[in-house]
Amino acid sequence: MKNELTNDILKVLYTEEQIRERVREMGEEIAERFAGTRPLFVGILKGSVLFLADLIRACPLRCDLEMMAVSSYANATKSSGRVRINHDLQQDIHGRDLIIVEDILDSGNTLAFLQEYLKAKGAASITIVTLLDKPSGRQKAVSADYVGFTVPDAFVVGYGLDYAQLYRNLPYIGILKPEVYES
Ligand code: 5GP
Ligand code: MG
Repeated sequence: MKNELTNDILKVLYTEEQIRERVREMGEEIAERFAGTRPLFVGILKGSVLFLADLIRACPLRCDLEMMAVSSYANATKSSGRVRINHDLQQDIHGRDLIIVEDILDSGNTLAFLQEYLKAKGAASITIVTLLDKPSGRQKAVSADYVGFTVPDAFVVGYGLDYAQLYRNLPYIGILKPEVYES
């Protein structure tokens, strides 16, 4: 289906159906791993919202949900390396098992920062779930416990991921045409 968003997509990497199936699998694995406990999901705004919404519905656990907003990007396609908290946790996490839900693990700056920050706040354990992993971008030694898909070295958008705040509402994940951000 052609529309003003899909016109900017060079290539579809993961279709809506592929994402649905993979997220369902991840939900089942996480539910098995945390069965009988009450983990606290920490969704990282804004990129993770679509993934988070689907993941927790695939994860029939007694659980809590918090959101954090952090930024290290300023409408660019490369990380600045600096991370700032724009919205913080609204509850005490001391002794809790946290499940961080992120859209994409690229340089690792965001998750390295969050791991340190949440550990310092007394989390009992920190599990990292990322929809996408881009190992070619890594600058910090961070790895995720659960990865949806491993992506090539390209700037991807859709299913929550933006470029300059656009394309988050694409139901699939694709590579943006370079001319979109070069122009
Ligand atoms: P990191 O701190 O690991 O470099 O990057 C984490 C954040 O960078 C992600 O949450 C995401 O907002 C952004 N990011 C990294 N690579 C991409 C990409 O290919 N596409 C989009 N839309 N965002 C990305
Ligand atoms: Mg993000």
